[in-house]
Amino acid sequence: MTAVQVTLKPGDTIGILGGGQLGRMLALAAARLGLRCQVFSPDPDSPAFDVVQHATCAEYADVEALELFAADVDVVTYEFENVPAASALILAARRPVLPARGILETTQDRLAEKDFVTSLGIATAPYADVTSVETLHAAVAKVGLPAVIKTRRFGYDGKGQRIIRDGDDLAQVWDELATRAAILEGFVPFEREISVIAARSHDGQVECFDVTENEHSDHILKTSRAPASISDDLAAQARDIAERIATALDYVGVLAVEMFVVSDASGPRLLVNEIAPRVHNSGHWTLDGASISQFEQHIRAIAGWPLGKPVRHGAVTMTNLIGHDVDDVSHWLTLPGATVHLYGKGHARRGRKMGHVTQVHVAHVENPTNKP
Ligand code: AMP
Repeated sequence: MTAVQVTLKPGDTIGILGGGQLGRMLALAAARLGLRCQVFSPDPDSPAFDVVQHATCAEYADVEALELFAADVDVVTYEFENVPAASALILAARRPVLPARGILETTQDRLAEKDFVTSLGIATAPYADVTSVETLHAAVAKVGLPAVIKTRRFGYDGKGQRIIRDGDDLAQVWDELATRAAILEGFVPFEREISVIAARSHDGQVECFDVTENEHSDHILKTSRAPASISDDLAAQARDIAERIATALDYVGVLAVEMFVVSDASGPRLLVNEIAPRVHNSGHWTLDGASISQFEQHIRAIAGWPLGKPVRHGAVTMTNLIGHDVDDVSHWLTLPGATVHLYGKGHARRGRKMGHVTQVHVAHVENPTNKP
């Protein structure tokens, strides 16, 4: 597999599939580099539409709209991993799609993704394929309990998954999951969750941001902290895992690798939980906490420009404003050192990501010019 080489010049146009906050922040980063974006999304209220001059509001299955969109742009990228395969195929026949279309096949399917990670010799939780209540029994015998059953496709923020404990009725669990393709994973008693945001260019350069530590609430990311409270050695292992994954995928762009840190008598170990083939919520701290953001790195990578060497400005915290958290925005707006990002979404529904706040904790440096 060899990634397509693209070299954009200022004024060229990037097509972004998906109109959420990730698309919005990608378009803002592109604008700073003199590049234009056109956003494709079926939702007329897409947050990314607000920040671009040209948008296509159409269904992902609308072949004519996809063809017109492809004709308007120089390269296509995406801000969510569930891009329908047929849409990606239509676009890839007309314009370079980065990261490459085939990567979606691996990352859209939890089983294919785990098999891929395992094939690289990288550890994951024990897992088994589940297609029926009979195979669920076999999977439980193999993986043990407690375990987590997840639909193979279209799961996010804890949707399409549940924990199975000793004594649970497996037939009922299977009925309630309402799928024919699932994966059973051993429940990981993790010490912490971390992620690595890595960027890879078409010529194979990889730049990782400092490892981030993530806390979830109701399965939704609540806070990220960089750097993670782990040893330098474990952080180096985490970055190495992300680099090996990006290289094996011949990836061009930014990807996130979520990992669990587990500890036993032999010390801490890493297990890969998930790969996101896109910019990621746990990398939002880079907007204000590093010299280059994950969004800019992604734009540079798909534009065929050199990647930056990100330097972190200090210890950084990112807090998501979820649902009605946003009602408290004036507190954050006036907090010293805080930077507020709002996504322009109208209604604060429960669980909806409305914005985020970054705080950079810089050690106080006395400024001699301020001395009386
Ligand atoms: P996922 O959709 O796979 O990213 O899972 C969402 C969240 O559920 C993770 O961030 C973990 O907090 C938790 N989780 C997922 N899989 C497991 C597992 N095998 N063991 C323990 N917790 C898990």
